[in-house]
Amino acid sequence: MSLTNRILLAMVAGILLGSLLNVLLHGADLPVGLRAFLDETLIGGLFDVVGRIFIASLKLLVVPLVLVSLICGASSLGDSARMGPIAGKTMGLYLATTAIAVTVALLFALVVGPGSHMELTTAASYVATAPPPLTDVLVDIFPSNPVKAMADGNMLQIIVFALLVGYAIAHAGEPGRRIGSFFRDMEAVVMKMVEVLMALAPYGVFALLAKLFSTMGLGAIIDLAGYFFTVLAVLLFHAFVVYGLLFRSLARLSPWILFSKCRPVWAFAFSTASSGATLPVTLNTVERRLGVHNSVAGFTIPLGATINMDGTAIMQGVATVFIAQVYGVDLTATALLTVILTATLASVGTAAVPGVGLITLALVLEQAGLPVEGIALIIGVDRLLDMVRTAVNVTGDMVVSVIVARSERQFDEAVFLAGDKGPAELLEDGTPTL
Ligand code: ASP
Repeated sequence: MSLTNRILLAMVAGILLGSLLNVLLHGADLPVGLRAFLDETLIGGLFDVVGRIFIASLKLLVVPLVLVSLICGASSLGDSARMGPIAGKTMGLYLATTAIAVTVALLFALVVGPGSHMELTTAASYVATAPPPLTDVLVDIFPSNPVKAMADGNMLQIIVFALLVGYAIAHAGEPGRRIGSFFRDMEAVVMKMVEVLMALAPYGVFALLAKLFSTMGLGAIIDLAGYFFTVLAVLLFHAFVVYGLLFRSLARLSPWILFSKCRPVWAFAFSTASSGATLPVTLNTVERRLGVHNSVAGFTIPLGATINMDGTAIMQGVATVFIAQVYGVDLTATALLTVILTATLASVGTAAVPGVGLITLALVLEQAGLPVEGIALIIGVDRLLDMVRTAVNVTGDMVVSVIVARSERQFDEAVFLAGDKGPAELLEDGTPTL
């Protein structure tokens, strides 16, 4: 069985076992010893430890991979004149796709009316954290200490530093060439580490999902079915219809090949609910399976993981309408435009880790003049939606990366069209490919 299929199978098995354990632990009359074994040894012990080690190993590779990949990409571009158009197209597409996402979400939610028949029964309570001032956000993009930026995993600062190093390498003559070839070797080595980790993914994915579903009650979905399924429907619509059409019309390539090659990335995004932790796999897939040259992938993917969150914006759009309806507030056209603008910006400011979209939702609600406590209404189903919206977030990054690479001729169509490798076609040294 190919690694992709094993990861997907592990996903399904983890969800099923987790849900079964949840039912057993909450319903059945279990002997005390068995309950303690399932609860403490299996879920709180084995699954928890394996899952946490898996996430830690993914995070371990993020900074080295982003750094070397972007340095290689920026130095190989050499001609710094290309940097501007690449950055411009990338930012433009990221912002445009997010604005489309939130607009579609608002339209869907206004038509479906997920909150219009809901009564506000219990008093909701949620305390919002104050956002930092915009000037600080801007200044904070520029690192004063590259080591600290790396230690903190500050992606935007690492991007700025790597671009500078790459530019200098391209313009430093012979020493630049020597250092450049060192970084290219480093890139191959770090990519190999990512592939080794991917081979272990079935265990990590299984443990993460089994633990999550055994502890998470799915009952909340029933109470919030209108909201939950509206968000889910828009997420799926955006992922398959909007991205599919954009991909076909702007990259002039088959979206089906893209979707089929994205499956492992989705499994990682779904089980970790973190674009940041998924980054090594996203980058590997975009470069090695979708054919994007690392001069574009090294820039677009880390940047996208940090600022491009279409799935998050969709949740925020639907949540705003839902909360307004539950509180009986009519959203004016101005309020809707404000939501489109702030949700697009909030998605830029949302960190690539689980659950942050809910925190930045406070910003959107505040701007639209809605009660921030409304967030408490939707917390119950947020983790599940977070998993799906993270998968949409990373898909958006991959779509934009291919579109930009193709328009900049930094794209290898033969790699994109090449079939999936099975277990028989191992790399020379035996590492299985996806
Ligand atoms: N978990 C999301 C991500 O990492 C962010 C969010 O919406 O909470 O992409």
